[in-house]
This record gives sequence, structure tokens and C-alpha cells, in this order.
Amino acid sequence: ELANRMAERVGAVVKALMQNGMMVTQNQTIDADTAELIIEEFGHRAIRVSDSDVEDVIASVEDRDEDLQPRPPVVTIMGHVDHGKTSLLDAIRNAKVVASEAGGITQHIGAYQVTTDNGSVLTFLDTPGHAAFTSMRARGAHVTDIVVLVVAADDAVMPQTVEAINHAKAAKVPMIVAINKIDKPQANPTKVRTDLLQHEVVVEAMSGEVQDVEVSALTGEGLDELLEAIALQAEILELKANPNRFAEGAVIEAKLDVGRGPVATVLVQKGTLKQGDIFVVGEQWGKVRALIDDKGERITEAGPSVPVEVLGLNGTPEAGDVLNVVETEAQAREIAEYRENASKAKRAAVGAATTLDQLMAKAKADETVAELPILVKADVQGSAEAIVQAMEKIGNDEVRVRVLHSGVGAITETDVGLAEASGAPIMGFNVRANASARNTANQKGVEIRYYSVIYDLVDDVKKAASGLLSAEI
Ligand code: GDP
Repeated sequence: ELANRMAERVGAVVKALMQNGMMVTQNQTIDADTAELIIEEFGHRAIRVSDSDVEDVIASVEDRDEDLQPRPPVVTIMGHVDHGKTSLLDAIRNAKVVASEAGGITQHIGAYQVTTDNGSVLTFLDTPGHAAFTSMRARGAHVTDIVVLVVAADDAVMPQTVEAINHAKAAKVPMIVAINKIDKPQANPTKVRTDLLQHEVVVEAMSGEVQDVEVSALTGEGLDELLEAIALQAEILELKANPNRFAEGAVIEAKLDVGRGPVATVLVQKGTLKQGDIFVVGEQWGKVRALIDDKGERITEAGPSVPVEVLGLNGTPEAGDVLNVVETEAQAREIAEYRENASKAKRAAVGAATTLDQLMAKAKADETVAELPILVKADVQGSAEAIVQAMEKIGNDEVRVRVLHSGVGAITETDVGLAEASGAPIMGFNVRANASARNTANQKGVEIRYYSVIYDLVDDVKKAASGLLSAEI
């Protein structure tokens, strides 16, 4: 790689290294100081790209208050399987997206925008469920402003409903409850509302703060009310962005298209993405060749909260990668290469693990962290509750244990995803992780601990928490 960049022969570089006392092969990694030495020996000039250089290029714009303008909310639909997430997304799209005169058909690009009868624009992410939500968050992309929690009125609160609630809470994203399938004779919306109380979701009909709307994805009943509820929630949030700057956005979907090459759907979060813009996205870079909206039409620019297909990438990025427009192609290439090398190095080192020990070390280094996040999975509801109660008693004003999620059953990939996103270990009580969860946990460096005695589990968490405590003194 180094030889390549200097346009020298690999053999010559290896020889130079050997003459400096480094017995290396051509695929070996060398440190930056050695590389610099060799570069100078060959008569070239070394420019070091560091994390801070990369950030300088990207984070050079500070948005002033007066530059900020209102932007549409970005909405994710979550809920238990079969409660109607997909049906609801389809119903909203069919009711509100007017097929354009030219194109005619709406395209699936991973997100779409609708305009309510009162003129509010809303952006919906088209991938329902919390797996996508969590994996995006784990990659550092915070795209969702509002979660619509779908609960079927004939089924009430189910395990994945609870998971969705916990995911939304962990991400500190406000929720709106859509009580779906209201057309069914056996629909019992009251049961949904009372069930939700047990999970600390108090809806307006129960004198709480969380908006609840009865809907039917099948008949379309209540859809307009739901959209207005979302618009109202968005108004409360006062969502704003500066449209007049280099664009920044998050990849929602990406694929390698046979005809068009790598294609990514990007949700613009700041600034305006324009045709011809040069950008870096994760470990890839490119120049915007074309922008295509959710109606399948070519557009020349996309502002905040607008989802758009981007053509002109040199490789396929991953969902959750951040896109930044930069000034020059050289910058874009440099940053992409730097990131690629950094992630290679990271993969080579043993993962950035989240262990209890590391949480303690982090707390010591960063005095503001006084919260110990954990996930609890147990064999029966009674044990899970007992553990959560014990956890809540640990800690004082300076430190507390936060149970992000507790549930019954084997530890799954979803649990690992949430744990990774929040930097939490998973405590299993009389349960094991399934094979895919174990693999993912190993890859992502998420710690899973197994217990068969509640006392031992509580004791370990106490020890970790007291580690946090002593760090404060
Ligand atoms: P998802 O798994 O949450 O995405 O759920 P789907 O959207 O796939 O819906 C699951 C099933 O419930 C499908 O058979 C839908 O036709 C049905 N369904 C969804 N919404 C409604 C509704 O409002 N009323 C009735 N009666 N059925 C619905």
C-alpha cells in the first residue's frame, strides 16, 4: 500500500525497511513513524491524516440559530410482529403520496414523504421494526425523531411491543401509540391502554402525555388523525436544521444495482445535497451523479429530512453510515481511505468490548458518566421482575443502574443490538444466548454474563456500581 502510494516498487520498500532493521513481509502493517521515515528516505513528503484532521474537514460549519429553519420529522414505525406495521406504512403511502404525473408509480427507496391535509410534511422510514432502528443507532446514526408504536387492538401488548418501548426510551425518542385493527369485532383498545400502563407508557386517554390514536390500516380509519398527531408532536419538538450548508445525512439503505452501480438512499439531516456535490460516506466516497426521490423522479437537490437515492458512489456503503459533503475529491478520497484503514486496524485488534470492567474504567475517565446501563434476560417473568427491582435499589445520587430492557427467553440478536447501541452488558439469568446472538456478541464485543443465582447477579452489578462510586470520590 505504501509502495503503491509512493509509486515505488514493493520490493524496494521492503528492502528499505529491512535495511532499517525491520524484517517485514509485503502485507505487514507498519507504524506511522516507520512509514514516515521510509517515505522521506524515498524522497517523498509524508502528510499524516489523523482523526482530528478528518473531523476538521467535516465539522467546519457551526450552525447559528438564525440559520436554522423548521424541518419535517422523521418517523419510524415499531411494534410486535403482525400488529400491522407494514400495512400501516402502505396505507399511509397509498392515501397520501400522489403519484406524480410524469412518473406515476411510487418507488421503494427505504423512506418516503407525505403531506397531511393541513400541509405538514412528514418523512417515514420504510423499514419497520427495531432491528433496523437499533443497528442504525449502533452505527451512530440518529435519524428517528418520533416512534409510532403500533399495537393491535385484538392482541394488546406483546413481547416485541415491550422491546420497542424500551428501544424508544433508550434512544430518548418520543412515542405515539397507534392502536391498530380497530375494525376487528374483537378489538379491545382499552386493554391496550391499560397494558401499556404497566410499561410506564401513559397515554392521553389515561390522562398521560403520550398521544394515542385508534386506527385501521385496513379501512383507513384514523389515519388522518394519526398523521396530525405526528405533526403535533413534531411541532412540540421544534425540529430545525440549516439548509444552507454542505449536506450531512445518514444512509438508510444501500445496494449494488446491476445497471446503476452502487446506490444509497440517504436521509439528509443538515444542509442541502446537490447534484455534482463531492462527498464521503463511511469508507466510500463519490460525486453525486443523480438524485432520485421517493416518486422515482430526478431532482437536483434535497434538503433536510428529505430521503433521496444517490448515484455516483465508488463503492457500497452500509446502512447507518454518515454522508458528508466535502470540498475536493482529494479530501473525500483521503478521508475514505483513512477510515478504511482505521476500521481494518480496529477489526484486527480485539473489538471495542463492552464489559463491566470497561464501563468502570470509562466512568473513571469521564466523571459525568454515573449510569450503568444493563440488559436483563431471564427464564421466567417473576425472576426478571425480581432482578429489575433489585437493580433499581442499587446506587444513589451519584450513580444508578439503568435497566434498558428486561425480558423473558433466550438472549437474541436484537438484545445484542440494543446492548451494543447503548454500551451495555447483557445479564442472563437461567437463559443462554442463541448461536447467532453469541456470534454477533463476539463480533461486536458485547459482554454476556450468565447466572443461576440472583444474588450473584446483583452482587456483580453492585460491585460494578461501587466501582463507579469510588471513582467519584
Ligand atoms: P407487521 O408484521 O407488523 O408488519 O404486520 P403486517 O402489516 O404484515 O400485518 C399483519 C396482518 O394483519 C396482515 O394479515 C394484515 O392484513 C393484517 N392487518 C394489518 N392491519 C390491519 C387492520 O387495521 N385491520 C385488520 N383487520 N387487519 C389488519
